[in-house]
Amino acid sequence: MRIQSFLLGEWQDNHRTVASAHCALDGTVIAEQAGVDVNGGETLDFARTVGGPALRSMTYLQRAELLHQVASILVANKAQYYALSAQNNGATQTDSLLDIEGGIGTLKYYASLGKKIGNRTWLSHGESEPITKHDNFRGIHVKTPLRGVAIHINAFNFPAWGMLEKLGVALLSGVPVVVKPASVTLPVAYAMARDIVAAEILPIGTFSFLAGGGRDLLDYITSQDTVAFTGSADTAGLLKSHPRVISESVRFNVEADSINSAILGPDIELGSVGFKSFIREVCNEMTVKSGQKCTAIRRIFVPRELLEEAKSALIEKLSKASIGDPAIEGVTYGPLVSKVQLNAAQEGVGQLLKEAELAFEGDIQQLKGDENGFYVTQKLLVCRDPANAKNVHSTEVFGPVATLMPYESHNQLFDLVRAGGGSLVSSIFTNDDQFAFGAVAELGSSHGRLLIVDESISRGHSGHGNVMPMCIHGGPGRAGGGQELGGLRGMDFYHVCTAVQTNLSRAAYLQGD
Ligand code: NAP
Repeated sequence: MRIQSFLLGEWQDNHRTVASAHCALDGTVIAEQAGVDVNGGETLDFARTVGGPALRSMTYLQRAELLHQVASILVANKAQYYALSAQNNGATQTDSLLDIEGGIGTLKYYASLGKKIGNRTWLSHGESEPITKHDNFRGIHVKTPLRGVAIHINAFNFPAWGMLEKLGVALLSGVPVVVKPASVTLPVAYAMARDIVAAEILPIGTFSFLAGGGRDLLDYITSQDTVAFTGSADTAGLLKSHPRVISESVRFNVEADSINSAILGPDIELGSVGFKSFIREVCNEMTVKSGQKCTAIRRIFVPRELLEEAKSALIEKLSKASIGDPAIEGVTYGPLVSKVQLNAAQEGVGQLLKEAELAFEGDIQQLKGDENGFYVTQKLLVCRDPANAKNVHSTEVFGPVATLMPYESHNQLFDLVRAGGGSLVSSIFTNDDQFAFGAVAELGSSHGRLLIVDESISRGHSGHGNVMPMCIHGGPGRAGGGQELGGLRGMDFYHVCTAVQTNLSRAAYLQGD
């Protein structure tokens, strides 16, 4: 496969190969990345001047129809995405489903949201209010789409979902996109981009695809453009502090790393439905996508009196996970995506081991696959004194690894969870309403999402790590301080909210009455 960029309305290839993508299962090269001779300024200008007007001439309903058609094309071609995902990412069927179907499902969700908004070209925000004693003089807030480009810089771990979740929100809002996927997992995103372009659904200039590079994009950014970045905190910091991002006051959304947690409530008894549900969710989170999810559980908190029992139950379940090539029968999870990620995970485990003991690790001798694959076995660590530990609250091992820790009291638990410095998600397993509401009050300000599971939904919830389009995704502090999705909330990023002060009938019209 030769991966090209779609810029200025054409596939670009300057016949130089600038990078390669590998098979995670055996390390062989499976794709080469073509260089381009188009600079960031030309890329952004084309999207702004050709794609922007085309999208803004349409209503939300019409743009929703575009999303619906794109989703249909992707559904029709999804078999090839699964095949590439298995090879390039070493993904199991479930891993690929989360990425591919999760992305398509998010597109469909925004298509249906656009249908509800209907044939409008702006959004209103709340009802009009009187401003003076003169009741005919009102204030109403309206939201209109930005007239720039949505630059989407994505992480390697969700090549499909990462591209589609951002794409759907921006296009429905009326803003053209320049997608810059992570180089190491380009094949799935590229195959989707090929099919989207070939289908000729999206007007020219509304969808650009930058395979690699993109280092100069921010040199040409303007105040009407936006950046939605997913990746490491280090890269986020570098890009956010770009002088033009600062001088142009560019909106910059960051989704970065996160030390998420799962909490066993003090009321949950050993062997109960709640206990089993907790153990199941933790083990699932550790091995799905081989732990390469920004939302995966990294810290596991249990009451001190249940530490040993929880450890045994986790080990029993984790020992059933089997590493290798997911095409081989009996394999439940695959490799990491690259040698770089393998090295980073091993280094991260080394950091955790300074404060925690290794309670269990899968046996690499049992590997059902090629030894050149990027394999890291499942590992459970135990940190017995988390209040005096640092690394377990700050080191994100992007692999099948988590640390179990005891807590002594509610207050200490909440302090420990907040020591993560701001997270995407925490799951709380409890049947006790008071504890649940206390956790919301104590942990809300440091989390983008809280999953609170009791026995009534122990089998019916959407999962700790799954990002649902109707709920916001993001988190404060080290998680990046960003916010994506969440239905209409996600579209705010691509709109400017303006207060319009006018007469009552005009206010009613603007409100959509
Ligand atoms: P990364 O190295 O920071 O790369 C992220 C993206 O930035 C890639 O597309 C990369 O392109 C691009 N990039 C790097 N330097 C750039 C520059 N100077 N100019 C423009 N683009 C640049 O992160 P990663 O290793 O792919 O991702 C792993 C991290 O992402 C993990 O820490 C994880 O927690 C986090 N993550 C967070 C979320 C979330 O939603 N919060 C989701 C997934 C992952 P190249 O690949 O071409 O270098």
